[in-house]
Amino acid sequence: MTPADPVQLIADLFASEGANDYFGEAVTQAEHLLQAATLAERAGAEPSLVAAALLHDVGHLALAVAGPEQMSGADKRHNDVGARWLAQWFGEEVTEPVRLHVAAKRYLCATEPGYASILSPASVYSLSVQGGPMGQAEAGDFAANPYAQAACQLRRWDDEAKDPAAPTPPFDHFRGLLAGLVRER
Ligand code: FE
Repeated sequence: MTPADPVQLIADLFASEGANDYFGEAVTQAEHLLQAATLAERAGAEPSLVAAALLHDVGHLALAVAGPEQMSGADKRHNDVGARWLAQWFGEEVTEPVRLHVAAKRYLCATEPGYASILSPASVYSLSVQGGPMGQAEAGDFAANPYAQAACQLRRWDDEAKDPAAPTPPFDHFRGLLAGLVRER
């Protein structure tokens, strides 16, 4: 039996039905992720952070494949599901920004005046499910995490990657970058 090729598994998720869902946004899940990765790439981010941007909502896609009953409450944990799934093949420089991207939204809402006003309506709604803005102590703990800054960068691309008029490269554009990040076993 040949071991599963993670890049192909991810390509299949991007081509799955769930990737065509909008989840209340102006672009599909696949377009959203491809746009986020493009913004990261254009900003000159390291390959691991481009990959994190590309894969930050992969938990949504995996949950959609698992079935609609799995989706209830998914906004509380799609980041954890995604990070755990990705940890099979990728290091924490990819998985930690993914795991922390929801916390980064709650952190930025608490610490950056005006940040909350740029959130999409769907993102404002999920904020309430996710626990609302962080309190001072929680924000302090978050800022001390070595991946806090990467998670906040990812969060800003996440917020921006919802433009129906923005160019969206095909998934294949990122295959080589992903393959280069898969850990040796
Ligand atoms: Fe997102």
